[in-house]
Amino acid sequence: MNVSTRVDVAFQRCIHPSCATTYGIEEIRVGCGECGGLLDVAYDWDRARPPRQLADFEQLWSRRHEPLPHSGVWRFHALLPFAEPEHIVTVGEGQTILQRSTSVADYVGLSGGELYLQYEGLNPSGSFKDNGMTAAFTHARSVGAKRAACASTGNTSASLAMYASVTGLMKAIIFIGSGKIAYGKLSQALDYGALTLQIEGDFDDAMQRVREVSSKLGIYLVNSVNPFRLEGQKSVMYRVLEALRWEVPDWIVVPGGNLGNSSAFGKAFIELKELGLIDRVPRLAVINAAGASTLFELYEKRGLRWQQGAPQTELVDDYYAELDAAHRRASTIASAIEINRPVNLMKSLRALEFCDGVVRVATDQQILDGKAQVGAGGFGCEPASGASVAGAKMLCEEGVIGPDERVVCILTGHALKDPDVTVAYHAGDEEMFERVLGSRGVKSAAFANSAVPVANNLDAIVQAIEQHA
Ligand SMILES: *Cc1c(COP(=O)(O)O)cnc(C)c1O
Ligand SMILES: [Zn+2]
Repeated sequence: MNVSTRVDVAFQRCIHPSCATTYGIEEIRVGCGECGGLLDVAYDWDRARPPRQLADFEQLWSRRHEPLPHSGVWRFHALLPFAEPEHIVTVGEGQTILQRSTSVADYVGLSGGELYLQYEGLNPSGSFKDNGMTAAFTHARSVGAKRAACASTGNTSASLAMYASVTGLMKAIIFIGSGKIAYGKLSQALDYGALTLQIEGDFDDAMQRVREVSSKLGIYLVNSVNPFRLEGQKSVMYRVLEALRWEVPDWIVVPGGNLGNSSAFGKAFIELKELGLIDRVPRLAVINAAGASTLFELYEKRGLRWQQGAPQTELVDDYYAELDAAHRRASTIASAIEINRPVNLMKSLRALEFCDGVVRVATDQQILDGKAQVGAGGFGCEPASGASVAGAKMLCEEGVIGPDERVVCILTGHALKDPDVTVAYHAGDEEMFERVLGSRGVKSAAFANSAVPVANNLDAIVQAIEQHA
C-alpha cells in the first residue's frame, strides 16, 4: 500500500475514553474494532507543533497563489496535520464568507446584538460538504483507494462526484433514496459522471446499504462516519473565527442531519481550547427539522448526555425501537436533514457537552420562512440551512439567546440546490404550493415575492412597475 500519511503525528482513536483504542492513520476504518464506537483523528500536538496564536495563520494570506493557502480548509493544515502537503487533494474549497445581516438580526429578534451568516453554499459544489470531501479524498488517495462511495440526501454525492471528476483520482459511486433528492443535487451527480444507484427506500436505508457494500467490496466510504471528513469540516469554525478577527462569538447555530458538522465544530473548539488558541468556547445550537428530530428527542426530551464518554445508550436503542415499531420515517421539506438515525450522534453529544449546547426543532413552515429571510437579505440558501435562522429566532424568543449576543448561523447549502421549493414558496401558484409544500403542512408563505403577471403591452408594463417599485 502506498501510505503517505503523517504516521509520526496523526493516528485514529476511539472516542470513548474507557476504550480509547488507537489505530494507524493509514488504516481504513469506519468504527472501533473493539467497541464499535466512532473514531477520531487524533494528533500528537507536541510533534505537530501548531501555531502559537490563531493570528499566525494570517501570514499565509500572502501566499494565496499556492494551492494550499488558497484553500479555506488547507490554510489551516497545521490544525489537521494528517497528510503531507504534497499529497493533499484540493480544488480550492472553503472560499466562503461570513456576512453580517441586520435584516435577519431583526427577524430573529437580536435587537442589540449581531447576527452573521456563514455562507458555506459558496463552496465549489455548492455546500459545506466540500470542506470534508477534500480531507476524505486526501486520505483516500494516501491509502491508495480507487473507488469511493457515499449514501446521500444529495450534497455529499454532488461533492464526491465533483472531487472524483475534477481530480480523476477515483470512481464515484453514490447511493440515493428514491424520490428524496433535490434536482439541483441530483443533476450535479449525473453531470459529473458518478455511478448513481437509486435505492428503493430512504436515506437511512441507503446509508445502511452503502456501509455493507463498502466493506464487502473494499470501497472507500466518504460519509461523515469517516473521521477524516470531519477534520476538514472543522475549518468552517476556523474561518468564522478568522472573519471575526479571532474573536469567539457567543453562539454557533447549525442545522443537524447526520450531525457531522456539529461534531466537527465541537472537535474544533475542544482542540483550540486544549492548544490554548482560544480562551472561551461559543455555545452550540443544533436545529433538527420537526419531522427528523432524533437528536432533539434524545437530548432535550429524554436527557441523553455524553457524560464524558459514558452515554446512556439504552435511551438510543429504545428510541430507535419505537421508531421501527411505529414505522416512522424521517419527513421534512429540508431533504438534507431528513435523517432519523444520525451516524454521528455520539460525537454530536460530545460537542453539545463541551459547548454547553441546546437542540431545537423547526417546522417546515419555520424553516421556509427563515430561508426566505436569508434570501431577501443576502445570497440565499437551501431549505435545510433555513433551520439555522429559524432556530436562532426560536432561541431568542425563549430568551436562551440574549438580545445583545453575537450569533453565527451556518448556511450549509446554496440557494440553487433546491429551486422547486423556492419557486413553490414564492410563485403564488396555489396548485404548485399545495403539491410541493401544502402536503407537508406548510400553510403560508409570509415572505413570498410572487411574479407579477402583466399583459404584453407597454402601458400595462409601465403601470405595473410604477405600482410595485
Ligand atoms: C449534509 C447537509 C446538512 C446536514 O449536515 P450534518 O453535518 O449531516 O448534520 C445540512 N444542510 C445541508 C445543505 C447539507 O448538505
Ligand atoms: Zn472503542
